[in-house]
Amino acid sequence: MQSPWRRAAVRTALALFASVAATAGRSAEVAEPAVPRHHRAGGYQNNYLEFSPPGVAALLRWRFDALREGLPKPALNPTPVQAPDLAFIHANAHAGMAMQPAVTWIGHATTLAQLGGLNVLTDPIFSARASPLGFIGPKRRVAPGLSLAQLPHVDVVVISHNHYDHLDDDSVRALARQPGGAPLFLVPLGLKAWLARRDIVDAIELDWWQSHRVGAVEFMLTPVQHWSGRGLDDRLATLWGGWAMLAPDAHVFFAGDTAYSKDFADIRRHVAARQGIEAGGGFDAALIPIGAYEPRWFMRPQHVNPDEAVQIHLDLGAKRSIGVHWGTFVLTDESIDQPPIDLAAARRAHGLADEAFSVLAVGETRRLPPRSPRVDSTARR
Ligand code: ZN
Ligand code: ZN
Repeated sequence: MQSPWRRAAVRTALALFASVAATAGRSAEVAEPAVPRHHRAGGYQNNYLEFSPPGVAALLRWRFDALREGLPKPALNPTPVQAPDLAFIHANAHAGMAMQPAVTWIGHATTLAQLGGLNVLTDPIFSARASPLGFIGPKRRVAPGLSLAQLPHVDVVVISHNHYDHLDDDSVRALARQPGGAPLFLVPLGLKAWLARRDIVDAIELDWWQSHRVGAVEFMLTPVQHWSGRGLDDRLATLWGGWAMLAPDAHVFFAGDTAYSKDFADIRRHVAARQGIEAGGGFDAALIPIGAYEPRWFMRPQHVNPDEAVQIHLDLGAKRSIGVHWGTFVLTDESIDQPPIDLAAARRAHGLADEAFSVLAVGETRRLPPRSPRVDSTARR
């Protein structure tokens, strides 16, 4: 009834969370007023909810309940898959500032965002498992919508945090070796050293609200509500965040992994103020996670459900959102095909049009209407 990998996964998770309690007191930092509030002696912290790891009892309760109830239930619908429009993607990749802003879903939180003349990859994972080991851990259920070989030359990779399903060792190594030269890696604080240990030196790490400009595009790391850690002793040691990608032709937000918090209203205000946008601003498109949310008593502090994802869409003032972080790996108790069903219910509950917040097939491209320069001064809340 309990597969070997599941038993091993429970053991690994138990070890992780048991060690967390023991390693909570990391090297003490002197708290100076100049130190941002999210920089703490025990690691980084969220703005609106102190992350405290679930204890062993909570973890056991989750796993026990899931096993007893046979969760997640098998999917009734396969994740939709579409052959990628390689002709468009590659022509667009070479169009420079004539590029049409577009987003292609590769799977999980991996997307190819084309904007401002750049090809940007978000949280690339092309591997067969989201795990430190090749033979254990959540297994990929759908092949990447674009293989590494099918990608256009990637200019920038943005990483949201270091969990295995977002920062994949083999994928970043492969990207660093791409023909034509390594992309620039933009990462939250603490991850530049992780890349450097892999001889990846073309990297810039940012704190929340810091920006780095590449050509016409400003990349700003923003707070979101989550946590970090890959092993037994690095919980909260590196930062996590979302990415506001601000190009003349599109303002796109990539949320990474997040719970619901007031951070998203802050992000909308902050970006509008920074860009000198009146009347509230807002994003042309947002890539928001809609999967890995059950059971709520356990997941709510770290992962949104589709209803909360819709609230994030509204808080960001996004013209359209695309649900990602689903359909690719089984990480939690909901069926792998449940997120879009719950998203449709959430849209109805919020009175939102279908096209305002939708999902793509793996491999599918959503072209975005180019941002009008006049939008900034005429946007309404
Ligand atoms: Zn995560
Ligand atoms: Zn994740």
